[in-house]
Amino acid sequence: MEASAAPMARRLMDEDTFTENFKNVNWPRKTYLCYEVELPDGDSRVPPGWDKGFLRNKPIHMPGPPRDAEMRFLDLISSWKLDQKLRYRVTCFISWSPCADCAQRLAEFLRENSHVSLRIFASRIFTKGDYKAGLRTLQAAGAQIAIMTSKEFEHCWKTFVDNQGRTFQAWDELDAESRYWSMELQRILQPTAPPSLPPLYFPPSHPVPGPSFHSLRGSSG
Ligand SMILES: [Zn+2]
Repeated sequence: MEASAAPMARRLMDEDTFTENFKNVNWPRKTYLCYEVELPDGDSRVPPGWDKGFLRNKPIHMPGPPRDAEMRFLDLISSWKLDQKLRYRVTCFISWSPCADCAQRLAEFLRENSHVSLRIFASRIFTKGDYKAGLRTLQAAGAQIAIMTSKEFEHCWKTFVDNQGRTFQAWDELDAESRYWSMELQRILQPTAPPSLPPLYFPPSHPVPGPSFHSLRGSSG
């Protein structure tokens, strides 16, 4: 077994790490992943205290090959050998949405483990490579994917951060950034429109004077 070292005590993320990585106006160069596994009653396969935690990607300067946070999470959850007869609900809060490779691997995991459901909340979307196809594949495999709102940021603050008893303080632009990324995600995940339909946009509160405007309106009824 790989994880033979001292059991991972339920450690908490320091506030600076949370802010640096999850604050959705930042562009951190690493990825943090917080996870929660809802265990069926009586299942003791997950070591005590391991049902919640966080990890980060393994960067190049650390020993061994680099490994993305999602892959490390899959290593962890696979090592638990969850009972096929029970149902588990996994929620991940990730500072960047999964890259194309991780999305594929997560999708494979879900297809091979129908007793596990997965919800992913991302602070922002990782936009390199074939990320759109990856996210669609992941959704098609049954994962629920959403962007973190103030509710999820606050939940993470309360659950994973060494918050010293302080309440969550939202930052400026939290909601605006969250809305922006949510719209981007919706665009990626919605079924693709036929290419023959160009986008139509008429500003609703921007009257255009002139006869052409009236004739246009007249023709549309
Ligand atoms: Zn990845």
